[in-house]
This record gives sequence, structure tokens and C-alpha cells, in this order.
Amino acid sequence: MFPAPTCQTCNTDDYLHYSKYTPARIERTTMRTAQGSIPRTERIDPVVYFTCMKCGLRNGHSVDESWVLPTSSPRVQPDRPYYQMDDGSIVIR
Ligand SMILES: [Zn+2]
Repeated sequence: MFPAPTCQTCNTDDYLHYSKYTPARIERTTMRTAQGSIPRTERIDPVVYFTCMKCGLRNGHSVDESWVLPTSSPRVQPDRPYYQMDDGSIVIR
């Protein structure tokens, strides 16, 4: 369980303006050993990127898969469209 994204400086999420969300994904890597290369998969948790509108802090934050980008929240202005990318990432303009 990850805590909800929060500005570490202001200690609140009241001023967060979310800018990007990348869903959980599996990344294929190769581990090199003396016996040869072993393919392995690594699970990357979802990450949300935000800017704090109060202090200007920009950060990225791992979140649980159950976390939902609060597009209906007043923190995401309705006139800012957001785009779903091919890899499932959401970019908010
Ligand atoms: Zn802040």
C-alpha cells in the first residue's frame, strides 16, 4: 500500500495538480550471470506526476493500482483535456 500523493512541503494534497499518470506495467529485463543471461520480468507500480500549485514542487509518486486519477476533482480543471497514450499512460495538458 502506498500513501496517497501529497506535497511533502505543504503536507497536503489540496494544491496538487496532476499532470501525468502511468499505469502499472511489466518490464522485461535480462539478468546476466556466469551461466548466461536469464530473462526476468519486473513489475513497475503505477506512478502519478504532479505539481503543487502552492509551492511549485514537482514530483512523481508511486500509487496503488486501485488509485484513480481524480479527473472529476476540482484539482483537475475541466478545460484541461487529458489523453490516453498507447501504453495506457494518461497525459493531462
Ligand atoms: Zn506544496
